[in-house]
Amino acid sequence: MAPAVKPLALVVTCGCGERGRVLPGASWTCPSCGRSYGTGDVPQEEYAAVVRDVNRTKLRAIFGMALIAAVFVPLGIILGGEVWMTGAVVLAAFYFWYGPRVKRDVRRILRDLPRWEIREQDGPPGE
Ligand SMILES: [Zn+2]
Repeated sequence: MAPAVKPLALVVTCGCGERGRVLPGASWTCPSCGRSYGTGDVPQEEYAAVVRDVNRTKLRAIFGMALIAAVFVPLGIILGGEVWMTGAVVLAAFYFWYGPRVKRDVRRILRDLPRWEIREQDGPPGE
């Protein structure tokens, strides 16, 4: 049961200052000035590394929850009653303790994103 790898959108900043989001491989046309940009210049390796980092961070949280469930579900089945309650409390505590950490880590990864220069497609020659 592998979680789907969600592609991260790239943020393109146009020469005119307009910004837009585009998935890698696609191209983006500025709604303000009509210039279009391709994402073919984005290094696949670097992009893949960023996606991996984000997914690994999220996976740690999912793994933690799965671990708690793996401990408490069999105990709950065997012992019943209060074990379920304890398991729920531990799970909630983990969620509230770890959730913000995951969000913070993902934010940090996204803040430190590499910046790539991509060339304008079919633009006027020269600058
Ligand atoms: Zn523009």
